[in-house]
Amino acid sequence: MKKIYMDHAATTPTHPEVVKAMLPYFSERYGNPSSIYQAGAEVRAALEEARSKVAAALGADPGEIVFTSGGTEADNFAIKGVAFRLREERDHIITTAVEHHAVLEACRYLEKCGFKVTVLPVDGYGMVDPDEVRKAITSRTALVAVMHANNEIGTVMPIEEISRVTREAGVYLHVDAVQTAGALDVKVDKLGADLLAVSAHKLYGPKGVGCLYVRRGVKMHPLIHGGAQEGKRRAGTENAPGIVGFGRAMELAAAEREERTAQLLRLRDKLIAGVLERIPEAVLNGHPTRRLPNNAHFRFRYIEGESVCLNLDFLGVAASTGSACSSESLEPSHVLLALGIPHEEAHGSVRFTLGRENTDEDVDFLLEELPGIVAKLRSMSPLYRG
Ligand SMILES: *Cc1c(COP(=O)(O)O)cnc(C)c1O
Repeated sequence: MKKIYMDHAATTPTHPEVVKAMLPYFSERYGNPSSIYQAGAEVRAALEEARSKVAAALGADPGEIVFTSGGTEADNFAIKGVAFRLREERDHIITTAVEHHAVLEACRYLEKCGFKVTVLPVDGYGMVDPDEVRKAITSRTALVAVMHANNEIGTVMPIEEISRVTREAGVYLHVDAVQTAGALDVKVDKLGADLLAVSAHKLYGPKGVGCLYVRRGVKMHPLIHGGAQEGKRRAGTENAPGIVGFGRAMELAAAEREERTAQLLRLRDKLIAGVLERIPEAVLNGHPTRRLPNNAHFRFRYIEGESVCLNLDFLGVAASTGSACSSESLEPSHVLLALGIPHEEAHGSVRFTLGRENTDEDVDFLLEELPGIVAKLRSMSPLYRG
């Protein structure tokens, strides 16, 4: 049975070129980059080369890149780092209802620590209104955290408009760009981000590594205390193989972007049109045009998204009901609920996120099989009167 992977928002297969770049750093190049002898220095050089590649891809200075253990740590570092540093003068954080749990739970923790948090609502497409951001900012606001694109529904937020608001107010803007750093041309100056989180495994790099971009001059505390690594901003011996792989993955993403995007857009639009045409009462979640080039997210009334995914899994197709991180809880996705989608319909949602190895045959196979699966499940559903 052919395996068809359509869950690239959860993670991506590691690019063969990335694996190749990493391998020596698991074997002969094992030195500690902080050691002064040759074996350390060569790894240090590789780390700094990776830093330059990541910085170049984001339009940043290498000195503004802090390597982390991934997107979750980068989000936590940005939010807690700024909040605890500015606490005396500013103890208010603003975010949105559709952020990743890495942002929402970090904010919830700050609330327990005595900070004030405003969670802004979004419209039916998952977009936050920059005017709402403006209205929420007070003289006590330290930071606004808004994701670039949503990991479930793929909606791309109006970050440039939001950064005009935060700039004017003199408030830091943190952007979770985990879903966009590989997919779109993410440049920190164009976006107006002061802090920006990236994760390697969402862009064909390895798991457990990422970075936080920190604009020069941004005041923050470290999240992890210990040695003087990463300019005293992130202690701990660097994940050298991971960082080298991350650098290569960012370089490849930039080099292959045009080609990847053209293919993804074509396959995504074929998938969306095919599903809406062949399956009655299927609805596209998220914004019709301002969405990630690889995201197709639907709700199928009267049935459970989980059952659709299990049936697809029997056929070798990997798709998900939303965020991989919340698939073990029975609560419907906080993102779909924030869009105003009723509980039952939120439960009937399925996300397909395409990647560089998907083909027309993959989409054709899905369009062949999915209508039958939905029809079968509906025929067993007490909610459906077809
Ligand atoms: C995956 C993801 C994260 C978490 O990144 P990890 O590297 O898996 O910790 C954060 N934000 C968004 C939007 C994501 O999609």
